[in-house]
Amino acid sequence: MAQKELRDLVTETKKQLEHLRVLGVEGIQISAPVAPAITAPQPKIMAPVAQRVEPPQVPTSSEPMTSLFGDLTPAPVKLTKSTETFEQIHAEIGDCTRCPLHLERTHVVHTEGNRKARLMFVGEAPGADEDAQARPFVGRAGQLLTKIIEAIGMKREEVLIGNVNRCRPPGNRAPTTEEASTCKPYLLREIAVVQPEVIVVLGNTAMKNLLDTREGITRLRGNFQDYKGIKVMPTFHPAYLLRDPSKKRETWEDLKKVRDYLDSHRSTDR
Ligand code: SF4
Repeated sequence: MAQKELRDLVTETKKQLEHLRVLGVEGIQISAPVAPAITAPQPKIMAPVAQRVEPPQVPTSSEPMTSLFGDLTPAPVKLTKSTETFEQIHAEIGDCTRCPLHLERTHVVHTEGNRKARLMFVGEAPGADEDAQARPFVGRAGQLLTKIIEAIGMKREEVLIGNVNRCRPPGNRAPTTEEASTCKPYLLREIAVVQPEVIVVLGNTAMKNLLDTREGITRLRGNFQDYKGIKVMPTFHPAYLLRDPSKKRETWEDLKKVRDYLDSHRSTDR
């Protein structure tokens, strides 16, 4: 360093110290060793070769965000194929008394239909006709469901049909959350056996119980939801359509989406 530069540096340092003193600073701690005074020209030292500093990695949209608070996006859960049979599941259900709905039922109404179905329909619980015949969706609402299935170019025998609850609630009331959560595991085990590509869930109660959502059917209907990798289409219950036929148009729109999805995802292994 030239003598003049050194003098300038000392002068500037003095000014800074005076400024700090005016501000009330009584001393500064110097932790680094003080360089020896330069009394003679120093040998020229080669500057070290600058090291390449890698810029921080910015996660791309395809990478999980492992940020300050960790990855908050849950990994999608896929349904594992079950090797159980319906017969095993139904035998386990037996003459079930696990929830209060057994008290007034005539029959336990099991899921029925094609066990290699691409499409499944799920309602909330059996009604009087279903309770009497031990079959799901056989009353007037069931007949309308059959017409809906045929309207999308399928036969009733091709699909799977069941309910979240297998026993008729007294007076056709909606099953309670506890009753639904007691019975639902059997339905989920059947779904794991068949692994349909699409589940059409019929009505508000069935949708809430199957999807564990607080959203209402009016908000979610017509939009595919997800159950462990299976497309779920909420739509109105056929019994509701019998009471309010004006909702048939929206139901038809929902079912067309299901038909289009199945048409565009034809699989060969069923
Ligand atoms: S509704 Fe389901 S859990 Fe309740 S008694 Fe019937 S089969 Fe058992």
